[in-house]
Amino acid sequence: MQSRRVQVDLKALLASPGLRVVTDSVRDYAIFLLDPKGKILTWNTGAQQIKGYAASEIVGESFERFYTEQDRASGRPHALLAEAARDGRVEEEGWRVRKDGSRFWADVVISRLNDASGSLIGFVKVTRNLTDKKRALEDQSERARQQAALSQLGLFALRTPELGMVVERAVRTVVETLQLEDVRIHRADERSPAGAESVAIHGLEGQADFGMLSVSASRPLSANDLNFLRSVSNVIATAVARTRLEEQLRVAELSAIEERGKKVQAQEALRQRDEFISVAAHELRTPLTALQLKLQSLERIRSADRKVERIGGAVRQTERLSQLIERLLDVSRIAQGGVEMSPESFDLSGLVRQVADDFREPALEAHAPLELKLPDKLEGSWDRLRLEQVLVNLISNAVKYGAGKPVCVSLEADEERVRVTVADRGIGIAPEDVERIFGRFQRAVPIRHYGGLGLGLYITRYIVEAHQGTISVDSKVEQGSTFVVDLPRWSPAGSGRDRTAQASA
Ligand code: ADP
Repeated sequence: MQSRRVQVDLKALLASPGLRVVTDSVRDYAIFLLDPKGKILTWNTGAQQIKGYAASEIVGESFERFYTEQDRASGRPHALLAEAARDGRVEEEGWRVRKDGSRFWADVVISRLNDASGSLIGFVKVTRNLTDKKRALEDQSERARQQAALSQLGLFALRTPELGMVVERAVRTVVETLQLEDVRIHRADERSPAGAESVAIHGLEGQADFGMLSVSASRPLSANDLNFLRSVSNVIATAVARTRLEEQLRVAELSAIEERGKKVQAQEALRQRDEFISVAAHELRTPLTALQLKLQSLERIRSADRKVERIGGAVRQTERLSQLIERLLDVSRIAQGGVEMSPESFDLSGLVRQVADDFREPALEAHAPLELKLPDKLEGSWDRLRLEQVLVNLISNAVKYGAGKPVCVSLEADEERVRVTVADRGIGIAPEDVERIFGRFQRAVPIRHYGGLGLGLYITRYIVEAHQGTISVDSKVEQGSTFVVDLPRWSPAGSGRDRTAQASA
């Protein structure tokens, strides 16, 4: 905005005591008069404060001495006066020089003074010190520049998997943004160069620091610069941490692949074992059946002979052998996807009596007499042959592991369910083995004391579950075991396959 040209009587103005009073009361501004050539005519307290001269030192001198040497050489002071003379007023911001040679950033307004006839009689010059404001602005733009550089670096680090490239870029960012020559990254236990400013590249929680970022500068580093260095070191720390994490993940992935490989191998070994068992059992069954037939016919022919007894023993041994082979075949059938259950109505008490009868002899030999607690008759529907297998397995175990003490087989029922209990007072089962013994080939006794394949309970549980029943055991070491089979009384027909899937789900 163009100011109006001010008309004054300079002599009267200079003589006026009011001028001093007014200008001296202003402390934040240097206000003084210049003659048309730029000679200083008056001085105020603000001027003394901003520029450092007392009135006696400066009045009568040229205003040029407030300008930098460069400005003076280019004729800037007089160009400004000429502009103010022409336009009535000129304003600019620029560096000015104090008495002690230091610089300050000034906002300067020079206004032309006219006499009554309109001729130039001098200038009034008002100067304000804006150094703090300028610093604040510079500070702000410096911070903005550093922020921008930091964002670029962060983005680069996110996109770049190679740690080396991130570190190189970080060093370059510091060199370019802070205008420094000597920027280096070194181990935390290495000394930083003399006089260098260093910040730590922090390790992850609980880890040692990754290293140091050291810079050597000829100028003192500002708080902004140090903050910037810390942020750069954080970007490097994040990249290092990420690289290490990726390394750990790679190692974990490799060992997972290895584990998977082992698992596949183990599964293949199991499959081969199952196949072998199936083939071997089939192969054994053929000659065994032939042998059994031959022995039975011998038994019939020589019935009058004393040798019959021995033949009878041989027949029993082949029966045991064929039972073992049947068990192996059952395991193969189960592994291949299920065994059909064919329920029919029959009297379970009768079946228990029959099995117990078959066991009378071996039970007596083992000094483990069987006690039966059964209702006279208990009708229901189950797969007869399979349930016989369950009873045989449980009773033979009770006799075998019963330590020569009585074995009790009992039967209870209501409309819906039946419960078969086989209790012995033998060696018992350790708590940690209780779940395991229902698995394939699982045994909890040493083979040299007790023979067996470890399949009886596995097949038993399969049959019970295929009837939608449950089997459990309550046992104490040295005190005996009680196996309880709980079954629905009327089983629907169906295959064991679906139920196995349910049971193992
Ligand atoms: P096997 O008797 O042929 O070893 P089973 O599957 O019938 O196989 O039984 C598995 C294991 O459970 C046995 O080896 C034995 O350790 C344990 N076990 C089964 N029944 C009894 C029982 N009545 N008392 C003590 N231990 C038993």
